Amino acid sequence: HDPLGVHLRAMGLGGGFVAVEASDATESHRVARVRRDFVANVSHELKTPIGALQLLAEALLDATEPALHATESALLDATKPTGADGGEVGPTPSEDVRAARRFAERIQHESTRLGRLVNELLELTRLQGAEPLPAPDPVAVDWVLAEVVDRTRTTATARRIEVTVSGQAGLTAYGSDSQLATAVANLVENAIAYSDEGTTVAVVTRGNVEHIEIAVTDQGPGIAPDDVERIFERFYRADQARSRTTGGTGLGLAIVKHIATNHGGRVEVSSTLGGGSTFTLRLPARPPDAFLPPTPPVEI
Ligand code: ADP
Repeated sequence: HDPLGVHLRAMGLGGGFVAVEASDATESHRVARVRRDFVANVSHELKTPIGALQLLAEALLDATEPALHATESALLDATKPTGADGGEVGPTPSEDVRAARRFAERIQHESTRLGRLVNELLELTRLQGAEPLPAPDPVAVDWVLAEVVDRTRTTATARRIEVTVSGQAGLTAYGSDSQLATAVANLVENAIAYSDEGTTVAVVTRGNVEHIEIAVTDQGPGIAPDDVERIFERFYRADQARSRTTGGTGLGLAIVKHIATNHGGRVEVSSTLGGGSTFTLRLPARPPDAFLPPTPPVEI
């Protein structure tokens, strides 16, 4: 069933070649939409059981806390007899409790990672389906950076990494404030995750009439040239061993790239192995033409 082809043939317009191309394009759009909807639905459905797992693991940690303290203080009590008949003592309650807590912490860690994966997959699917923003709002870059520093403070502190912000103040970008904050936060989170403790992550802003730039520089391990070309692909992770320990998903940079493109900009990376990395988000300094007020008619 190919209504367009039938119509063209009825008009005497040749062997249906054009019609095949046209219906292929429609079909591939349809398939892309069905795939997006499917990922969105599955992700949404997965959120509930993952949330339940997290709560259960938390409840298990809370519930075993008194037992842990009790057995610890019992162990500290030197007068407490060990082994009723003076023979071999089995695993102490504290060993069981400790093992249970280790497993609960593991469940908590893995379910948090799964939750992040589902959220990022959902976010990416949304971005892939998104049209370019129809009426982009002016976004204060200073606000975006303050938000990013706020969001990443806990992880930065945990790794004793200082995040500094400098450069040009008062810059304006155009688009979605929350998407831009997500993009920059992903870059800063990576910079923190892949750097050694005690190093610095520098966020520097710059702008001219054409572009604004937000550059995130770290003192981390850098990225090999072969990997640099691929790190923006979904699920691509350069250094498998190191990447696994960061608990990331391999989707962060794909999200950054989509946000940059949806905003009429791009993201670039310059990096050398052993020499740290700089990721730069470059955005237009003006709203797209469609968003500008129409030019008044010239009076003659
Ligand atoms: P992940 O969740 O693995 O961090 P991303 O898409 O954010 O996923 O990054 C893809 C890969 O790029 C990472 O696994 C890592 O190998 C590499 N990478 C990203 N940022 C940095 C960085 N600042 N320094 C070194 N490697 C990085």
